[in-house]
Amino acid sequence: MSTIISVKGLTKYYGNLLAVDHVTFNVFEGEIFGFLGPNGAGKTTTIKMLTGLTYPSDGTAIIGGYDLLKEIRLIKGIVGVVPEYSNLYSELSVEENLKFMAHLYHVRGERLNQRVDQLLKLFRLQDYRNISFGKLSRGLKRRVTLAAALVHNPKILFLDEPTTGLDVISARNLRRLLEDLRGQGITIFLTTHYIEEAEQLCDRVAIIVKGRLVALDTVESLRKVVGDAQILEVMFKSRVDKAKLTEYFNGEIVSFHGDRVRIICKDFGEMVEKMLKFSKTFNFEISSINTVKPTLEDAFVKLTGIESSWMLLEKGVK
Ligand code: ADP
Repeated sequence: MSTIISVKGLTKYYGNLLAVDHVTFNVFEGEIFGFLGPNGAGKTTTIKMLTGLTYPSDGTAIIGGYDLLKEIRLIKGIVGVVPEYSNLYSELSVEENLKFMAHLYHVRGERLNQRVDQLLKLFRLQDYRNISFGKLSRGLKRRVTLAAALVHNPKILFLDEPTTGLDVISARNLRRLLEDLRGQGITIFLTTHYIEEAEQLCDRVAIIVKGRLVALDTVESLRKVVGDAQILEVMFKSRVDKAKLTEYFNGEIVSFHGDRVRIICKDFGEMVEKMLKFSKTFNFEISSINTVKPTLEDAFVKLTGIESSWMLLEKGVK
């Protein structure tokens, strides 16, 4: 595996706020690399530094062989960027937007027309080519923004929270498109606060919390940090009281989704008994108890010490 992005000690201060704290990592050519973390962790700032939208306070990166601090123009020629909020023009049509972006990237003449037609086809946007960008649904807007980021055939694609705000179907379609792009050899660097998205899509995941990298590995290896402990998943018939639950289990709860609770257990029998007692004491009826394999979410909680990742999944992608 060859390295296409090598980041060394990358750091960003906004005034006194240390938004990104000396992060060091490599991205391999052809992989989907996920930057996973809660809101405010420093994900967008990292993408902005790597794509030349903001200067690092310290550290550097080599991207596609070019030095971030000295050769940003060359880097811009080989990377595509899909920002969280689209950079396209509402009043221009889909086709006009793509042509405009192509111009910006010095794609001209017959090559421009060919590339735009190819992208409209690839992203199934032919029926919308003459529609104003502003009139499209969120899902279509995201698709056009992705197409626009590819006008100059970049080797690397950066995406900031690609599925945030999308409905389930659009999010799924977009993830499929990203997998297709990986199939074509494009390296993809994406940020997300959806653990399930990172788990489903990414070859490797870096977990970032408060500007610091706390883990980086394949999803499979990250799951192993939970060790050989089992995860007990209990479904209640109604929403349980989170405060009571946390108190009763001494903060051991791995995740809480209202009526679904997961907890790491060393001794299965003992934990089941304790759950039953909790259910009786507080009158929360249980509908099922199962053991499940550790997920990336369980690993995330263990690694970050963030008590419950339910917030990350609240608006999550199923
Ligand atoms: P994420 O993308 O993980 O949600 P960000 O990179 O957007 O996180 O933000 C990291 C931290 O930097 C947050 O505390 C945020 O409030 C702060 N921040 C981001 N952009 C700016 C800015 N332009 N000026 C000052 N603070 C900023």
